[in-house]
Amino acid sequence: MPLYEYECEKCGKHLEVRQAVGQDGADLECPSCGTVGPRRLFSSFFCAGTGDPGFSGGSSSCSTCSSGSCSSCGV
Ligand SMILES: [Zn+2]
Repeated sequence: MPLYEYECEKCGKHLEVRQAVGQDGADLECPSCGTVGPRRLFSSFFCAGTGDPGFSGGSSSCSTCSSGSCSSCGV
């Protein structure tokens, strides 16, 4: 089950919630201030801990070669 990250728009508190795919978290409540309906951030399930440098951006976005191995990639 993926881990979703939300941010309370009122106090800025971050919430990490395990949810089934398809749920929107609109009924989540901020544990800090009680505001309902936090804003969803990018899932840490996809953003963190992959350990793949090509996946986390940077070299793979080279517009010259698209493979991350040309002379302009490592600049
Ligand atoms: Zn809050």
